[in-house]
Amino acid sequence: MEKKKHFLSWYFDANLLVRILIGLVLGAIVGLMLGSNLAGAELGKVLNVIRPFGDLFIRLLWMIMVPVIFSTLVVGAASISPSKLGKTGGTIFLVYVFSSFIAVAFGLAFAFLFQPHVAIAASAVEGAASQTRAVQSLSVTLLNIVPQNIVNAVLHSPNLLGIIFFTLCFGTSLSVLRASSNERTRNSAEAVFNVFDGIAEVMIKMVSAIMQYAPIGVFALICVVFATSGPAVIGGLAVALAAYFSAWAAYIIIWYLLICTKLIAGLPVFPFIYKVKEAFFTAFVTRSSAATLPITLECAEKAGIPKDIRSFAIPLGATINMDGTAIYQGTAIVFVALSIGHVLTGADLATIMIMATLAAIGAAGVPGAGVIMLLMVMAQIGLTPEAGTATAAAYAMILGIDALMDIGRTSANVIGDIVYVSMIGRRQGWLEMDKWGK
Ligand code: ASP
Repeated sequence: MEKKKHFLSWYFDANLLVRILIGLVLGAIVGLMLGSNLAGAELGKVLNVIRPFGDLFIRLLWMIMVPVIFSTLVVGAASISPSKLGKTGGTIFLVYVFSSFIAVAFGLAFAFLFQPHVAIAASAVEGAASQTRAVQSLSVTLLNIVPQNIVNAVLHSPNLLGIIFFTLCFGTSLSVLRASSNERTRNSAEAVFNVFDGIAEVMIKMVSAIMQYAPIGVFALICVVFATSGPAVIGGLAVALAAYFSAWAAYIIIWYLLICTKLIAGLPVFPFIYKVKEAFFTAFVTRSSAATLPITLECAEKAGIPKDIRSFAIPLGATINMDGTAIYQGTAIVFVALSIGHVLTGADLATIMIMATLAAIGAAGVPGAGVIMLLMVMAQIGLTPEAGTATAAAYAMILGIDALMDIGRTSANVIGDIVYVSMIGRRQGWLEMDKWGK
């Protein structure tokens, strides 16, 4: 049946990535033109009209953050069946989680090397003072992971680590009950799981609806930034992209290919690249690990990962193993901190390592999930993008170029699953070596 056309079809039918990039470029051009032709009160008036469209985008992302974390993490944790977990599953799970720490470290290291930042124009900085927050000691940060009251943790300036901790406990308990020998318990656990699974689906639908607004939001955010800060911003954003993609390339070449594939697994690098290329490019264009899943499964088969393992490990990886997202968190948070002049302390860095890893685990495999999770990492070190603050301006800039970063994130995310599972399979002796001509 032919789809009915309505007056906005031209907008919704066009490819989202292309629309976002058009929003980005137009925003920059209009912003630069406004900045060079208007000044003072006149410029302020025009920007006051444009600014709310960008603030709306940030608010929408902020609104959806806690429900997304809660529902997708519960489903992720509850999907790990304890019986399947065994030795192989346990190892896969641990490698998925610990590799994220290494990925965040790559992101941070390259960010410190490149020092990506954009000096935020004075007009945007009014709220900067509100960001200075009492520095918490590491022990307090760690203790705060366990919320005293989960309702308070959700309602009052969300204690995100607390929410995540509770969610993981909840999801893990649910996964144990889903495998219970008591039929009644199993059925009720299954019902609870289905509810959360449904909520997670609704959240993902909401994220994709919000993303339809992204081109307009990005246009407004970038326009304001360019109008107030001028062309100097281009350099800063280019350095942010260079920092991220250098970390991304180094991670793929050094960590994925040389260390994991060649050194630990003893597999030949070029045939490996050949086997995973479809997943890599599909992720590039879809910017969604979830949408790439069927292709990732095919590539996993080509890499010799047996059916019973890949049917469990690859969907799990698409949900919790996101090294590209972890690298991004490290780079993006340094960009935001440097741009607003927030000095990152040792405790901040420790918090970032933990939160960015959790962000990578908690990010849903859909376009733009990573930048929602960045809000959570930022919040944990006291950076909240309230309208008009320097933090909001810095977040707006990174949000403006998010579609480009997401291409890198997603492609690294999907091939990571195949890299780790085949590496473990090779070490444990179950990788099908006939697929490698051996
Ligand atoms: N788009 C990414 C993925 O699907 C998630 C993210 O935004 O970081 O893997």
